[in-house]
Amino acid sequence: MTQSDTFAEPRMRLASSSMTRPQEGESTNPPRLWARQQSIKVENDCACAVVQPAPPSLAAPPDTQSLILRTAPDALVIPLRPGYRLLFVPTSPQGPVVLNDEGYLRWRAFARQPQPPSHPFDWHLWAAGLIWPEGQPPPLPQDNPTVLTVWLHLTDACNLDCPYCYVQKRPRHMSVEVAEQALTRLSLQARGRGFRRLKLKYAGGEPTLVWKRMQSIHQRAVQRAREAGLELEAVLLTNGTRLNVARVRWLQEQGIRVALSLDGLGPLHDRLRPAHDGQSAFQRLAHAVDDILLPLGLRPSITITVTRWNAGALAETLSWVLERDLPFSLNFYRPPWNMASSDDLRLETQALIDGMRAAFQVLEQHLPTWPFLDGLMDRGTGLPHRHACGVGHSYLVVTPEGQVAPCHMRRDMSLGPAATFHLHHLPQGPIRNLPVEQRDADCRTCPFRYLCAGGCPLEAFRHSGRWDGSNPYCAVYRALYPEALRLEGLRLLKVHGLM
Ligand code: SF4
Ligand code: SF4
Repeated sequence: MTQSDTFAEPRMRLASSSMTRPQEGESTNPPRLWARQQSIKVENDCACAVVQPAPPSLAAPPDTQSLILRTAPDALVIPLRPGYRLLFVPTSPQGPVVLNDEGYLRWRAFARQPQPPSHPFDWHLWAAGLIWPEGQPPPLPQDNPTVLTVWLHLTDACNLDCPYCYVQKRPRHMSVEVAEQALTRLSLQARGRGFRRLKLKYAGGEPTLVWKRMQSIHQRAVQRAREAGLELEAVLLTNGTRLNVARVRWLQEQGIRVALSLDGLGPLHDRLRPAHDGQSAFQRLAHAVDDILLPLGLRPSITITVTRWNAGALAETLSWVLERDLPFSLNFYRPPWNMASSDDLRLETQALIDGMRAAFQVLEQHLPTWPFLDGLMDRGTGLPHRHACGVGHSYLVVTPEGQVAPCHMRRDMSLGPAATFHLHHLPQGPIRNLPVEQRDADCRTCPFRYLCAGGCPLEAFRHSGRWDGSNPYCAVYRALYPEALRLEGLRLLKVHGLM
């Protein structure tokens, strides 16, 4: 590849350049940039923002002669190993990227002196959002969700009794008719409002307690999505105690992903998730993973809720997950709104930071190649987004009775029956899920604002009494993001064979 090729065809060349490894024996290294190429489905117990890596294809503007470029504001530089640095700019469409020394020096030239592009590599910096026309603000991250996520709350019943659960357990289940009405209505409207995909979360309670019902509902969902011209994806959120070979085969046939809740190993998990029948929930979950899911080729996502009780054991829990190379999400504990007594599970900030740092060490030793930053930091993801979650625009909950709620944590906030619901009412719901530029001043100027997007709006409101208020986990995010970003940099080095 010649320099002029790259300069003339930035759109075509950027992807290959970011994948190219330095050649052995090169006397002088050309400037290089490595960006994330993959996306992965990491599930959590919530409704995270759905973000995809933007392809490294930002075309050069037509008038390049008069273009004066400068470094984008708020850049964070993190040394990785000799010769390589991670560079993170909040608005970068590619997320954090790795530069070699030569690439970093070229980027620094724009900090010292704003200037027109004069080197082919400048277009890689441009595509990654690391340099930008002087006098113009960098563009905001794309905020145009194409996926409507619907949490179908199939049952209030459960076979476990987790102390932090926000569901009042009772034998109340969603009927197939209620589900079908909701799916028919929502699918048609989703299509009309520009969504391309419907994502269903089969949740509860424990949804496997109503297995046959869930199967019927899923068949209806497949039909309704097809009729509406929507892609369908579905995830089963389960405690993993009631899976068997036949059930997993069916999930596999249907392309339904599995997210398992795991809060510790052995007795710790059993203490946090005690089973009604007195048997070990952990042993059944481990059996499901090791003897059924993985042998059948279904790789579950692991959801860990970090509380006062398990933070100290987070590192060993994560080891178990990493030994199996499973995608995971770490979710910081949120007390249920209807149970003030569970507040004793909330962690002190320092204890949470300590537990997470120990987990980061394990992660560094067993560094996965998939982009784990999407699930590492509570509600945050590894790519820029403006809202902490889809509440108010691309997410809703359907209760067993067929009512729409804005969030699974606030089923008491009914938005009306799903059978007559209009999606355009979503933004008028009682939870104000503001874009991070409208959160408090700390968020607006924070370098991590498009990673955490201000955190869960409900928690911010509980903590500060304001929808634009500060998040109780902010100090944790701020303390840990530099280390989390460093791990992402090491991952990129590993993926590209640079360590
Ligand atoms: S919650 Fe904290 S870490 Fe997140 S954007 Fe706001 S100030 Fe930054
Ligand atoms: S408001 Fe909070 S709990 Fe509800 S979906 Fe959003 S991030 Fe999750």
